[in-house]
Amino acid sequence: MEEVVVANFINGEFVPASSYVPSFDPSTGKVWAKIPDSGAEEVDKAVTAAKTAFKTWSVKSAEERSKVLMKIAEKLEARMAEFVELESRDQGKPLWLSKAVDIPRAVHNFRVFASSVLHDTNRSSVMNAANAVNYTVRDPVGVAGLISPWNLPLYLLSFKIAPAIAAGNTVVAKPSEMTSVSAWKLCEVFNEAGVPPGVINLVFGVGPKAGEAIVVHPDVPLISFTGGTVTAKRLKTSAAPFSKKLSLELGGKNPAVIFADADMEKCIATTIRSSFLNQGEICLCTSRIYVEKPAYEDFLKKFVEETKKLKVGNPREDSSFMGALISKEHLEKVKGYVKVGVEEGATIACGEGKESLDLPAEYKDGYYMRPTVFTDLKDDSRLMKEEIFGPVTCVVPFDTEEEVIVKANDVQYGLAATVWTQDVSRLHRVSRKIQAGTVWANCWLVRDLNMPFGGMKDSGTGREGCVDSMDFYTEQKTICLKL
Ligand code: NAD
Repeated sequence: MEEVVVANFINGEFVPASSYVPSFDPSTGKVWAKIPDSGAEEVDKAVTAAKTAFKTWSVKSAEERSKVLMKIAEKLEARMAEFVELESRDQGKPLWLSKAVDIPRAVHNFRVFASSVLHDTNRSSVMNAANAVNYTVRDPVGVAGLISPWNLPLYLLSFKIAPAIAAGNTVVAKPSEMTSVSAWKLCEVFNEAGVPPGVINLVFGVGPKAGEAIVVHPDVPLISFTGGTVTAKRLKTSAAPFSKKLSLELGGKNPAVIFADADMEKCIATTIRSSFLNQGEICLCTSRIYVEKPAYEDFLKKFVEETKKLKVGNPREDSSFMGALISKEHLEKVKGYVKVGVEEGATIACGEGKESLDLPAEYKDGYYMRPTVFTDLKDDSRLMKEEIFGPVTCVVPFDTEEEVIVKANDVQYGLAATVWTQDVSRLHRVSRKIQAGTVWANCWLVRDLNMPFGGMKDSGTGREGCVDSMDFYTEQKTICLKL
């Protein structure tokens, strides 16, 4: 395959870069793309284009903007197969997954926000005693800086671009330097769909250089960031001297709380997915599984049996449940946690160090590892506290509801959780007490974009979704009329 050379997309045009960073195909470990190594200069050009475009885009009607978003969805859907292939190659995920989830969801994001912007209504309040009427209006904020991670590249980037432009903002976006190819191709779709020049600009490059330049640009009044909690802390410091709106979607250490009366067949099948889908590289993946004691031994036996059956291999083969992890460094980090677990005295029930991987020669240098299940963990184990973001999960028993709620909440994160029981009162009670932005009861990853999505504690600030993203990407004003 010919090497892909990515270009920045500024003011509707592809602009070649003066220097590049390599991007690797995780399935083979070989360089397959060159990504612009952009910095402040490129970001400034993109912001200038976005500022100019804001003058006309921000005053278009919601109907006009909606039509453009619908066109993007239509044109992207028409090129589905091409994007499915690119996303899988760039990220290492199985092709079937990018076909079932990533690219359809990106299409869906544009459609949903194209529609929801048409249904946005204003608030009003009548003050009888004061003889006054209050109502709100919304205005787009300006140039939105959008920074996204590598795990669900187009899925998450489009979840930012769609609401930002639907609300009338213009955009300077930077995807992860490890997965920039689908975003670059999406720029062709923007032109095909008739997005006016400058409304969406993409600047590619590494975080501390291109990302930081967006964060500190004085003409970018809002930043929507999805990525790691440590990066977000740096980002907040850099943004502190400015009065920017910040939306931060960060890491997680998500518990599954499984009571003995759960529908175990459904629970095990779903918990396998929630632990290992996308190589465990989803911020919402389960990494701590608490099982009520009477069900523990049986759960563990079946969970391990099912985990052992998962095939890891060539992402292009439909039989591969897991493809490759994103990078050599990340693979080493995740394997490092396996070492930590062993050093801490935990037991590997299956996976890394127990079963070997049998890969064809072409994939020997790819970033693969077996899904790994740990048991015998202490509550304060690093494996139980830190985000691993890979195919490693921990199974531990618990005695009481009160105890498991305390344990589930005893981490710095609060992104997502699952609760499994057939007792509806208990489902509700436990779900209310778990500190997480989303609790899935007897399911996982069922997403309604109408609902707020985000994290508590170190998992983030703010919420995204039809209403919540509209709140973030606009400034509301209250107008009070004295009658
Ligand atoms: P990361 O923080 O390393 O990078 C995210 C993005 O930030 C990338 O585009 C990167 O180039 C950029 N960046 C890095 N340093 C920067 C800086 N100093 N200034 C500005 N931008 C900078 O995260 P990652 O490794 O790409 O993604 C994995 C993390 O993302 C995990 O912690 C995962 O949980 C989290 N995540 C969260 C959600 C969510 O919705 N809460 C979704 C997906 C991923």
